[in-house]
Amino acid sequence: AVHGGYRTALERGFVGAKVPLGLKRKRLRVVVTGGAGFVGSHLVDRLIERGDSVIVVDNFFTGRKENLVHHFGNPNFELIRHDVVEPLLLEVDQIYHLACPASPVHYKFNPVKTIISFSQLLLRFAPVLSVHKTNVVGTLNMLGLAKRVGARFLLTSTSEVYGDPLQHPQTETYWGNVNPIGVRSCYDEGKRTAETLTMDYHRGAQVEVRIARIFNTYGPRMCIDDGRVVSNFVAQALRKEALTVYGDGKQTRSFQYVSDLVEGLIKLMEGEHVGPFNLGNPGEFTMLELAKVVQDTIDPDAKIEFRPNTADDPHKRKPDITRAKELLGWEPKISLREGLPLMVSDFRKRIFGDHSEVDL
Ligand code: NAD
Ligand code: UDP
Ligand code: UDP
Repeated sequence: AVHGGYRTALERGFVGAKVPLGLKRKRLRVVVTGGAGFVGSHLVDRLIERGDSVIVVDNFFTGRKENLVHHFGNPNFELIRHDVVEPLLLEVDQIYHLACPASPVHYKFNPVKTIISFSQLLLRFAPVLSVHKTNVVGTLNMLGLAKRVGARFLLTSTSEVYGDPLQHPQTETYWGNVNPIGVRSCYDEGKRTAETLTMDYHRGAQVEVRIARIFNTYGPRMCIDDGRVVSNFVAQALRKEALTVYGDGKQTRSFQYVSDLVEGLIKLMEGEHVGPFNLGNPGEFTMLELAKVVQDTIDPDAKIEFRPNTADDPHKRKPDITRAKELLGWEPKISLREGLPLMVSDFRKRIFGDHSEVDL
C-alpha cells in the first residue's frame, strides 16, 4: 500500500539524512497545500531550490499565481487549482499542509465598521464557514491521502491555539485559553481540531506526522490589504496614511521573518520529532513599539490613529522556543529591524510599481 510513498523513500535512505555537498540527492515528491500563499510560496522556492519535485494545491482564496510565476515551465513544478475540502488523489512522499484562510479579515467580523451592506455581510460570513471546513474537512482529506500513500504529513498550526494565554511565554505543554464561541473561534478551534485529527491519524493509522505552531510571521508577498498588523502598518506608512493602532496598543506579538519560518518547517519535516513545535521569534513588541519600528524604517512623520480593538484579541503572545532549539537545532536569525526593510521593498514595488529595489 505504501509503494512509492514515504516509507519507500526512507528505504531509499535519503529522507532526513544529511547529504554531503556535491553528492546527488534523490528527488522527493512534495505537496504544498496553500502553496500559492505567503508562507507556502517561500517554502516552494526552497524545496525547488534543493531539487525536489513540488506540487502546489491551492484554490486561490487568498493565494496568487504571481507568487509562483517564476516556477512556471519548470518540469519539477506543478500547480493544481483545487479546494482541499474535496478529496484528492496523488502519489507523493511528503505533504506540507498550509491551506487555510489565515488573516483575520478573512475570518472574522470587524466591529470597527458598523454599517455594512448585505453583499458585504455575505462576503464576511461565507469565509467563516470555509475556514472551519478547510481546517476540518481539508485536514482530514490530506491525512487520508497521507495514510493511503504512506506520506509524511506536516500541519501548519498556529499560536492562536493558545488563545488569550494565561502562561507567558507560551510553551508547547500549555493547553491554551480559547473562547469556543467567539468571532475568532472558527480559526482557533479549527486549528485545534486539525491538531487533534493529525494526532488521531498518527496514533490510529500510524501516519508519520509533524505539527508546527507558527507565531506571527511577516515578509515579502504578504497580502497587502489582508488586515494583519505588519502589512497594515507598512502599507499605511508607504501610502502616507495614519497607522491604525487597535485598542491602547499595549498588546504584544512576536514577529518572525518568513525565511526563518521556512527553515524551521523544513527542519521539522526532515527531523524525527512529531511536535508540536513553536516556530516563532521570541522578540516581543507592543503594537505601539511596532508602529515605532515602522516609522523608523519608512517614515518618521507617519501619524498614529487609535481605533477600537476587535473582540477576544489576545493580550500578549511570545513563543518559548526551547524545544525547537534543542530537538530541531533551529532558532530564528532575523530580527524585526533587519527583516522589515526586506518586506518594505516588496510592498513599495507592489504598491507603486517601483521595480528598482527588490529581486524576489
Ligand atoms: P495565506 O493566506 O497567504 O496562504 C494560505 C493559502 O491557502 C492561500 O494561497 C489560499 O489560497 C490557500 N487556501 C485557503 N483555503 C484553501 C482551500 N480550501 N483549498 C486550497 N487552498 C486553500 O496565509 P499564510 O500566512 O501563508 O499562512 C499559511 C499557513 O500558515 C496557514 O495554515 C496559516 O494558518 C498558518 N499560519 C500563518 C501565520 C502567519 O503569521 N502568516 C501564523 C500562524 C499560522
Ligand atoms: N482521501 C483523499 N485522498 C486520498 C485518500 C483519502 O482525499 O488519497 C480523503 C477521503 O476522501 C476521506 C478522507 O481523506 O474523505 C479520509 O480518508 P480515510 O481513508 O482516512 O477515511 P475513510 O475514507 O475511510 O472515511
Ligand atoms: N492590530 C492593530 N492595527 C491593525 C491591525 C491589527 O493594532 O491595523 C493589532 C490587533 O488588534 C492585534 C495585533 O495587532 O492585537 C496583531 O493582529 P494580527 O491580526 O496581525 O495578528 P493576530 O491577532 O492574529 O496575532
